[in-house]
This record gives sequence, C-alpha cells and structure tokens, in this order.
Amino acid sequence: MSEREDDLERRLGEVRERIASACRSAGRDPDEVTLVVVTKFFPASDVRVLADLGVRDVGENRHQEAAAKAEELVGLPLRWHFIGGLQSNKAAAVATYADAVHSLDRAKLVTGLSRGATERGRDLDVLVQVSLDPPGADGRSGADPDQVGELAARVAEAEGLVLRGVMGVAPLGGDAGEAFARLAEVAADVRRDHPGASWISAGMSGDLDEAIARGATHLRVGSAVLGPRPESK
Ligand SMILES: *Cc1c(COP(=O)(O)O)cnc(C)c1O
Repeated sequence: MSEREDDLERRLGEVRERIASACRSAGRDPDEVTLVVVTKFFPASDVRVLADLGVRDVGENRHQEAAAKAEELVGLPLRWHFIGGLQSNKAAAVATYADAVHSLDRAKLVTGLSRGATERGRDLDVLVQVSLDPPGADGRSGADPDQVGELAARVAEAEGLVLRGVMGVAPLGGDAGEAFARLAEVAADVRRDHPGASWISAGMSGDLDEAIARGATHLRVGSAVLGPRPESK
C-alpha cells in the first residue's frame, strides 16, 4: 500500500468513527447519515483510492474540475455531488455528470439544471441551499430562508429534477449548532409541502458532530479525510 493510501485509509477510518460516535450521542442510526467526501483540489487518483475504501459519494465545488474527474473515473460506483456556487450558464453542463446538486440558491438555475437532466435522461437530485449567515453578511451564499419555499416549489415542478431537501454552511466563526438548528426548521417547513424532501446536507470537517446532533442526513467532509487542501489553484 502506498503512503497516500495508508493516509487516506487512516483518516477515513477516523472520520467514520467520529460519525458513529456523534450518532451514538444523538441517539441516531448511522445508516441515516451519508458521508460525502469532498475531493476538490485533490487528484482523481485520490478519488480512486477512496472508492476502493468503500466511499460511494464524492463532492466537488467547481464545474471544470468536477467534470474532468467524473469523466476520468467513469465506471467507478460513485455518486457525484455538486456542492459549490453555480453559474447559470454552467447549470445544464453540471447536470450531465452530477447525481445531486446541493447548491441551488436562485430560480434562474432551475431551467438549466432541468434541461441538462432531461437531455441526459436521468433525474437529478436537488437541494436548496439556505443562507445561515446574518442578513447582509459578506460573501453570503444560499437563499434567504424566506425564499426557500418558493425555490423548493419550482424545483419540485421542474422536469428531470427531484427535490431532496436543503443544504447549509454554518457561518464562519458563528455557532454551528445554532445555525444547523435554524436549517432544521427550514427543512421541516419544506417537508410540510414536500414530504419526500428529507435530506439535510450540513456539517463539514469542523462541525460534523453539531450537524449530526441537529439532524443532518448528508455530511460534506473534505480536509478531515484528505488532509489540508493545497493552498491555491
Ligand atoms: C470545501 C467544502 C466542504 C468541505 O470542507 P472541509 O472543511 O474541508 O470539510 C463542505 N461544503 C462545501 C460547500 C465546501 O465548499
């Protein structure tokens, strides 16, 4: 086994143990929680090792990089989750390889994603990204909580798209538990109108325990599995 394989196996094991332990504390069944390993900035060779170690869900946040890796690794039993900011002119292209998009934050993206999914002939899972930052915060991403109902309705009506639930990122330096509690409330509102939309994508390397305590069904974990990301690229 190469040093990198050893490294990934050890860290993946630690993260799985952390998830199991957080589930025990929260009285939850670990089978309710899907680990999406965020492989952005890391090479396709790492994704291949992770697939060998049993990882089935991987996350990427940039279209070009994601498209290249998905193409290189076609044939592996992987589900590709797009979790990054999405430009509307790229939406249709993302839908050609992604199995799920976590970051729908405005109505304009619905058309492109729907077109891409329809052309591909396979349904695309979609989550509405909810902003958990205070109103007016810099670099805020996600829809305002009060716009989520309308966005969810549009996704639910769109051909080729399946509304799965909501996604959120805890504010930098804020209280993650509090932010995920707000996300859980928005998720419950969405489920009232769309009972099948049961996914809550929340929790990263630094706050996955809080996310599990607040009901997350999908964790997006990068550096805790892959190590520190290369500085810039
Ligand atoms: C990079 C990224 C993650 C993973 O972050 P880590 O702190 O490395 O676990 C999760 N979610 C989103 C939206 C990201 O861009």
